Amino acid sequence: MGNFTCETDAVFPGSNSYLKAGRHNHPEGTVLDIGGIKIGGNTFVIMAGPCAVESEIQLLTTARAVRERGANILRGGAFKPRSSPYSFQGLEEEGLKLLRKARIEYGIPVITEVMDTRQVEMVCKYADILQIGSRNMQNFPLLKEAGQCRKPVLLKRGMNATLDELLLASEYILDGGNEEVMLCERGIRSFETSYRNTMDLNAIPVLKRLTHLPVIVDPSHGTGHAWMVPYLAKAALAVGADGLLVEVHYDPLNAMCDGPQSLSIEQFGSLINELKILSCALGKDLIVPEISFI
Ligand code: PEP
Ligand code: MN
Repeated sequence: MGNFTCETDAVFPGSNSYLKAGRHNHPEGTVLDIGGIKIGGNTFVIMAGPCAVESEIQLLTTARAVRERGANILRGGAFKPRSSPYSFQGLEEEGLKLLRKARIEYGIPVITEVMDTRQVEMVCKYADILQIGSRNMQNFPLLKEAGQCRKPVLLKRGMNATLDELLLASEYILDGGNEEVMLCERGIRSFETSYRNTMDLNAIPVLKRLTHLPVIVDPSHGTGHAWMVPYLAKAALAVGADGLLVEVHYDPLNAMCDGPQSLSIEQFGSLINELKILSCALGKDLIVPEISFI
């Protein structure tokens, strides 16, 4: 879908420095393979789960529900970057162990955030994909460390970062020898206060044109409101994204983190149904596994 050609100079004059991320390196686009799940190419991948891993019951209930409704990959933070040091900071290794349990129980790969170079080795033991968050997009030691590890990395756009800075940040990981990188648009800061961030949908076709790396959209942090998430999720599919990273909680009202932007199980199910129709119309492959656990 889409005609993404490589015209780096035309978009960022003088900044033709995407030596490894540039589309000229890989005109047909990179397709990552996460245990058989393709990210990139014609596939639209769904990564879903809670903002934070809170407890066994919370994670396993949500994991099972999103898996049954069509999620391909489970998300959940064990290390949480919170604005306040008094907010819930995550279950750390305990949370990673719960992710591993969900992974085994429901046969679903997991993505989780790593915030610090000292956590990389531990997170690699449990995760299928490392997430580098918005606040760490330019944590250069962390990017270099991620470049050394043999796990795919989802790199989120800094909330104040330009696309040029995002692409250059990805170069740090690629240049370290890790070729399995995907980018994530998660909304940027703007003057608008009606929503948490401004979902920069312009970024998707621009990134797809400039780089061969898959581009994922996070409409949860991009909007901050669960009711807005389905609109922006569908828009992401329409503008050529390779998938979604979406927050889902079995009890959003009582979530320890990001409840207002988390979809309930039912809302997630409805979104998948809408995406099925839209993906058919757009000729994108939404792979919804038919799974039901007893
Ligand atoms: C997250 O995905 O849990 C998260 C903290 O996102 P961001 O880094 O985009 O704020
Ligand atoms: Mn969150």
